[in-house]
Amino acid sequence: MALHAHDEVVLLLGAPGAGKGTQARVLAGLLGIPHVASGDLLREHRQRGSDLGRAAQVIMDRGDLVPDDLVVEMILERLSRPDAERGALLDGFPRTLAQAEALDSRLAERGGRVRAAVYVDVPTDVLIERLAGRWMCRSCQASFHQRFNPPARARVCDGCGGELYQRPDDRPEVVANRVNVYLRDTLPLVERYQSRGILRRVDGNRPIETVRTSLREALGLTEVAGMPA
Ligand code: AMP
Repeated sequence: MALHAHDEVVLLLGAPGAGKGTQARVLAGLLGIPHVASGDLLREHRQRGSDLGRAAQVIMDRGDLVPDDLVVEMILERLSRPDAERGALLDGFPRTLAQAEALDSRLAERGGRVRAAVYVDVPTDVLIERLAGRWMCRSCQASFHQRFNPPARARVCDGCGGELYQRPDDRPEVVANRVNVYLRDTLPLVERYQSRGILRRVDGNRPIETVRTSLREALGLTEVAGMPA
């Protein structure tokens, strides 16, 4: 899928545990734009101990949403960096109507727009099982699953050799809240992009490679030499 204008953005929508992050890394490479994940950026702020990181900490550990104004400012700052000039693949943002509106107006100011929104659809019971078995890399944020996508060596990232850990918000009691927050605040966005005619749905309840192929088809991406299929 060729991006034509300045600031064309592709959204990956889906519940926590739908597999957005896993797929986004490869898709962003194919699209030639940066992968911008709001959750990863917030976790980086936490690690750095910034004001935003400290403000977000308790909210994230409960599985609630960080206030719109803070997240919007963080994302707009990220989108203003030179590597995002042609656009970005957004993962985990927008998560509310207010965030979607803020994104639209920022893009419109610069002659850009949301080019496509891909919805990775996974049933709720599967999400909970996936999140509970998830291991994340502390260094590169890649994610693994103890059953569905295990690392070659226990607790070591296949990609960068970093240490794998379980996110505090992947605890079962927090996972249930995250999924409920998603259904209440974020799922309505699917309708927003559907009514604009830019939504593509992909069944995310299939093996990683199969979902990846469907996502590539949904975005009109053909294989690029040297890139993983
Ligand atoms: P994620 O890694 O996308 O599952 O995000 C982890 C947590 O970061 C979420 O449960 C929220 O607390 C927070 N977060 C990430 N993205 C957003 C967003 N767009 N709006 C509000 N909170 C967010």
